[in-house]
Amino acid sequence: MEDLPKDPVEERTCRQCEQIFEPGADMEVTDQGAFCRPCFNALAAEVEMLIRQQNQGISFPAAVVGGLAGAVVGALIWWGFTVVTKIQFGLVAIVIGITVAKGILLATRGRRSRELQVLSAGIAAGAYFYADYLVKRTFILQQSPEYARTLTVFPDPAVFFNVARVTFDMFTLIFLAITVYQAWRLVEPFKIKRPG
Ligand SMILES: [Zn+2]
Repeated sequence: MEDLPKDPVEERTCRQCEQIFEPGADMEVTDQGAFCRPCFNALAAEVEMLIRQQNQGISFPAAVVGGLAGAVVGALIWWGFTVVTKIQFGLVAIVIGITVAKGILLATRGRRSRELQVLSAGIAAGAYFYADYLVKRTFILQQSPEYARTLTVFPDPAVFFNVARVTFDMFTLIFLAITVYQAWRLVEPFKIKRPG
């Protein structure tokens, strides 16, 4: 049986300029198709430039605003899910890690750097504890409405830390770790992969 290429047109023309390859032409075959040498070099230079620029001209105030906006969205999703379903499902908290990172990426137009990763992880951790408080507050008030005056939406820090301390368990720690990891990973700088 003859082993024919799947698409005979493919690999005969450059993906970029669609020029037909001469036999023995200098070309680069990638997962995305074949490119002639000038096109491949131009594309590679463009990618390298984007990677070099990814940590340039970052507006940190904008990043903080974006991250906090993402934190509010994520916390509301988690809290809303809990209130609607009446299930205290901590894994939903990881959405906070995603919305914080997306908020930062949006506000900085997709910049990525180690500093933004630290910021993203920090905001996500803070938002996690605050949202965790809101969720637990809802459940406590359902059982004991008399605490309504103490467990306010913006509580006294002492009250906040007390609730966090009393309700802290293994799952709090596991879901916190996953949330922070998501926030960290999603703004990780791109690296150039060198073959070999
Ligand atoms: Zn080409």
